[in-house]
Amino acid sequence: MTLPAECETALAQLDAWRRGTLPAEELASMQTHLDACRRCLSYKCHEDALLDRLSNAKHNCCCPDELRAAIMQIIATGSRDD
Ligand SMILES: [Zn+2]
Repeated sequence: MTLPAECETALAQLDAWRRGTLPAEELASMQTHLDACRRCLSYKCHEDALLDRLSNAKHNCCCPDELRAAIMQIIATGSRDD
């Protein structure tokens, strides 16, 4: 699939836009493009949702102590067998 040049530019600049490092004039054209282009807006929304989930997963990650101990045991046992 070939994207229009303005979409390729917008998608290439999405990370910089998200980090807030995009120059002001490109920031404006990015916002205008996202307002007008459903494809890029949809792509951005999917990325936002993914980043949100990753960010939440980082905080909710927990490994029960018994499981952690069992895994460490397996790793320790495995390395002794080598
Ligand atoms: Zn686009």
